[in-house]
Amino acid sequence: MYRLVSISSKEDIFPELRDMPIGLLLEYHNLNREYESYTQAQLLIGMCMDNRKHLLIPDNFAFIIRAGGANLRYSEFKVSYAIAVGGVKSIALIGHNQCGMVNLVARKNIFINGLVENAGWDREWAEEHFNQFAPMFEIGNEVDFVLSEAKRLRLRYPKIQVAPLLYKVEDNLLYQIKES
Ligand SMILES: [Zn+2]
Repeated sequence: MYRLVSISSKEDIFPELRDMPIGLLLEYHNLNREYESYTQAQLLIGMCMDNRKHLLIPDNFAFIIRAGGANLRYSEFKVSYAIAVGGVKSIALIGHNQCGMVNLVARKNIFINGLVENAGWDREWAEEHFNQFAPMFEIGNEVDFVLSEAKRLRLRYPKIQVAPLLYKVEDNLLYQIKES
């Protein structure tokens, strides 16, 4: 189980994140913290490709990998690069509600017809493409997925701080996720 924790002041930020790069992200985006200037990235942000989301952060503040559902399983080399070469020590993993990577099977026909009509694909290829990749990219539930993905990343990169967050598309704010 989990609950979402909103941020209306700096004190609402979980103590382990406060004054850390992920806490600063929450302050910039939710609390209109005045932008500082950065010469190098402070953290890596993993977020969905969805067009409804836009982060309010200073230039140079973060590496950002955008992939459907904030799923970094197939972006591992880029994650490693941000840590090893970019020097970041934190990852904010931002899922969002109403994510298109939830229940992909419900959009199977739209997907196949769209590839046929919009891209000029053969129907059979489009169907094969969906059947091959939908199980890899399906995330099930937005919050459960970022929680499990955060766990996976913590095991993979033990010295890196990883926080699962949720972006609500209704209010464009970030929420912390309290795991229980
Ligand atoms: Zn999404």
